[in-house]
Amino acid sequence: MTEIQARLNDIKGQGLYRRTRLVSGPQGPNVVLDGRPVLLLCSNNYLGLADHERVQGAAAEAAMRWGVGAGSSRLVSGTMTIHSRLEQKLALFKGTESALLFGSGYLANLGVVDALARAGEVVFSDELNHASIIDGCRLSRAEVFVYAHNDMEHLAWGLAQAGPRAALIVTESVFSMDGDVAPLEEISELAQRHDARVVVDEAHATGCLGEGGRGAVAAAGLEGEIDVVVGTLGKALGSYGAFVASDAETTKLLTNTARSFIFSTAPPPPAIAGAMAALDVLLEQPRRVDRLQANAEVLRGELAREGFDVSGSSTQIVPLIVGDASTAMRVCEAALELGVFAQAIRPPTVPDGTSRLRLAVMSTHTKDELRDAARVLGRAALQAGFRPATAMPVAAAHEVSHGDAQAYALFDAEAPDTMPVTIRRASRAA
Ligand code: PMP
Repeated sequence: MTEIQARLNDIKGQGLYRRTRLVSGPQGPNVVLDGRPVLLLCSNNYLGLADHERVQGAAAEAAMRWGVGAGSSRLVSGTMTIHSRLEQKLALFKGTESALLFGSGYLANLGVVDALARAGEVVFSDELNHASIIDGCRLSRAEVFVYAHNDMEHLAWGLAQAGPRAALIVTESVFSMDGDVAPLEEISELAQRHDARVVVDEAHATGCLGEGGRGAVAAAGLEGEIDVVVGTLGKALGSYGAFVASDAETTKLLTNTARSFIFSTAPPPPAIAGAMAALDVLLEQPRRVDRLQANAEVLRGELAREGFDVSGSSTQIVPLIVGDASTAMRVCEAALELGVFAQAIRPPTVPDGTSRLRLAVMSTHTKDELRDAARVLGRAALQAGFRPATAMPVAAAHEVSHGDAQAYALFDAEAPDTMPVTIRRASRAA
């Protein structure tokens, strides 16, 4: 047996083996998956803009006008006018002085955390932050304090310990796997008190929360208060890529020091034009956001009637926490048999013992589709031997993960002694 085969067998043995499924057609509410028609309930195409005809048209036209590729890093062959136009629109949308495009949300987080935290400083990162933030922390060489999920007492304690070394607090606003919202106001206050910067990742809030989909920062009345907002173009905005909205000085610093900006080809013109058209549609049709939120409420209500505990989510992301990875896969497969596709999410994407079906609502789902889906998921859970009524409530599931936060943050890192990054979760009290 080769070493690679042995590793694959090990992954399979833990119930964590992944494969991609084949989808025909765009990411709409109804797709053909591995040859079978199903309701798609796990795509981040939240506003149905990925296949909106204006967005498609803009991307096609941009390919003809500007070409398909950007040719190089912008620091080498220049910023194309289309990049600059979208940056101006995004800054306006987010209420910041400036915005800088990145190739993806993964690259944006990597670059931002790396650029804003340096060796000798401390970064504070929520334990449930996305892998791209964790990897940004690793790249930064700063010391990292992983605080318990949304736990402001723990964060405050850590900040006090770090003293003047506290540099950066980084959090998602809408958590990608839980659908809950960070206490942004408290985070902002703590940051001011300790003279630290705040980075908020609005990947799942942009286009989904706040007036006209401006995000959770805007919804909390914190526009202009949060130092750096990361947004993605690949989710509600239906395209691909990301942006970092901040003051002009920070944009200049990122342009000079964010490695994932400097050393990567600029985003392709069709993707940029598509995102720009999606933003225009969003500005003209803010009702799409209302519809998304109303749909999310319908789904949460119907799932609660099926006995699922969905109280942890207040957004379009609704986790059905199952616990064990293999059982979560069985529920997923049973739902698929019944015509609903909601991918099971397992470690390391989520902490051990909290495997789940991560449901993602779209504004383009009909209410009937969502009602039927809830029934199907209830039936699928029973068929897979999982009783929803006994499901671990989201809060309790997080308590499990808190104890294991270090393992989660470090998953797969097995940091060798030479690794210049320490990711550790200091305990609150001796
Ligand atoms: N941040 C969060 C919170 C995410 O969920 C994701 C992707 N799912 C990203 C960043 C990365 O964005 P992208 O897919 O554009 O790389």
